[in-house]
Amino acid sequence: MPLPRIAQILLEGQPGTAIEVAGWVRTRRDNKGGFSFIELNDGSCMSNLQIVVDSSVPGYTETIKLVTTGASIRVAGELKASPGAKQRVELHAQTLTLLGPADALKYPLQKKGHSWEFLREIAHLRPRTNTFGAIARVRNTVCYSIHRFFQERGFLYVHTPIITTSDCEGAGEMFQVTTLDLDKVAAGKGPLQKSDNPAAAPAIDYTQDFFGKKASLTVSGQLEGETFATAVGPVYTFGPTFRAENSNTTRHLAEFWMIEPEMPFYELTDNMQLAEDFIKTIVRDVLRDRTEDMEFFNERIDKTILATLKNILDHDFKRVSYTEAVEILTKCGQTWEYPVEWGINLQAEHERYLTEKHFGQPIIVYDYPRTLKPFYMKCNADGKTVRAMDVLVPGVGEIIGGSQREEDLDTLLARMQECHLNPEDYWWYVDLRRYGTVPHAGFGLGLERVLLLLTGMQNIRDVIPYPRFPGSADF
Ligand code: ATP
Ligand code: MN
Repeated sequence: MPLPRIAQILLEGQPGTAIEVAGWVRTRRDNKGGFSFIELNDGSCMSNLQIVVDSSVPGYTETIKLVTTGASIRVAGELKASPGAKQRVELHAQTLTLLGPADALKYPLQKKGHSWEFLREIAHLRPRTNTFGAIARVRNTVCYSIHRFFQERGFLYVHTPIITTSDCEGAGEMFQVTTLDLDKVAAGKGPLQKSDNPAAAPAIDYTQDFFGKKASLTVSGQLEGETFATAVGPVYTFGPTFRAENSNTTRHLAEFWMIEPEMPFYELTDNMQLAEDFIKTIVRDVLRDRTEDMEFFNERIDKTILATLKNILDHDFKRVSYTEAVEILTKCGQTWEYPVEWGINLQAEHERYLTEKHFGQPIIVYDYPRTLKPFYMKCNADGKTVRAMDVLVPGVGEIIGGSQREEDLDTLLARMQECHLNPEDYWWYVDLRRYGTVPHAGFGLGLERVLLLLTGMQNIRDVIPYPRFPGSADF
């Protein structure tokens, strides 16, 4: 029979009942009176179960000294009302079994107060700390909330490919996937393209590669998502996404998880409303289902986090056109590292000023200059802007990027030409505009950015179990 979890015992365990639990020791205190207190954690919640072990428990003397921080034990006994104020119940041991010791001289989490950097170096053990246990639980709750949100609205969950031969954003920030032997290529042993011009630089012959052409890891499932949205109705993807951008920031990972809904018959304003409802639902679910963990983040990580989240729930997201945003930024008297004028890409400093200082709440910036955005975004009649939207939130900046998609064949082809893309490479995507084209829209939400918003953690490398970033893919 599976053992009960500590979260359940603390919530509804009845004094007088016999129970058995197992977990990892957080601390042990020995009392001079001949008994010990063990704080046991099994990851089901932040709180520990207090265990009282009397010296009359069989094997007490030999076993108890091995019951150190990090060791795993199994305990059977009787649940009793606790005289302490900290907990409702405690477990009085009748048997104590050491499952696995943890050498007190070597166990890296013997002491508290390690730096985030150090904990990143022991990513295999950091889930055993309060903070990383809480992050794992909140992350799980967010994922559950995301699936529930879309499932309740009739969206289909579709799986778009991870290996792809199309570059959705048209930018060179993809990880190449190849089975070619790079050492051989470097030694000039090919496979190289045949060329009549001896002066031409040698080029790799990708027809010899696994997929017969150059392939990469996906930077977005959107284009494939559109093919399903225009067949089965609203869909969403939720999967790993890869970007080889060499940006060593606290908000970028090389491997992250993205949720991308795509909806036929949605225009930009419908898209905005869905994005707002989506974020609010996640926030509400986490505050409801992870109260203890959220109080921990508010106390230990960021004292403003609960107030920020309540503020998000209490207000409509402000909608601001890019042009208005630029006006605010140029008139506010602030000096910028990246100067502001109409046509520039908004930088993190600008985004954070708008959402944190100027509006003090989430905002949705829309109608960006066409030159800043990818080919698939719908062109506005002004000839200058596209129906793009970014959701910006306090503490993080951009959390969602999305748009209404260009559904007109000729406009799309013209945009591809403008972006130096070959329509033949995207023939299947262009086909959607040839056969039964419809207005449609969608967006991408970065899962780890949401976790930054929810937990108040400062570095995105700490809200994913195993972060990948330039120079690091350990574990
Ligand atoms: P940014 O400007 O912050 O680099 P972006 O505009 O390149 O982001 P999009 O292409 O719009 O990002 O992707 C949609 C969402 O995916 C973003 O709003 C963000 O939440 C998330 N995201 C994008 N790149 C990363 C990354 N490298 N690491 C983590 N999340 C990311
Ligand atoms: Mn974006």
